Amino acid sequence: MSKCKGVCDRYKATKTQGGSRYANGQKRCQSCELFINWEGLWCPCCGHRLRTMPRNRIYKEKFLQSKKIIQKEQDILL
Ligand SMILES: [Zn+2]
Ligand SMILES: [Zn+2]
Repeated sequence: MSKCKGVCDRYKATKTQGGSRYANGQKRCQSCELFINWEGLWCPCCGHRLRTMPRNRIYKEKFLQSKKIIQKEQDILL
C-alpha cells in the first residue's frame, strides 16, 4: 500500500489563475490528495501513479491530426 510520507509537500503546486491545473503541467496524486509539480509519472512521495489525463488527450488529438494529414496527402497523390 502506498502511503504519504510528506515529501510531496516540497513539490506542492501553487494554485493556478484560470485554466486547468493539468494544462499547467501539474499532476494529481490521489494518495497524497494534492497537486504537485513533477515531471515523472509516479509520485516522488508515495510512489502512486499520478493523474495526467488532459495531457493524454492532447497527445491523442495530435496523433489523430497527423493521421488526417497523411490521408490528405494520399488523396492528392491519387
Ligand atoms: Zn505525499
Ligand atoms: Zn503521493
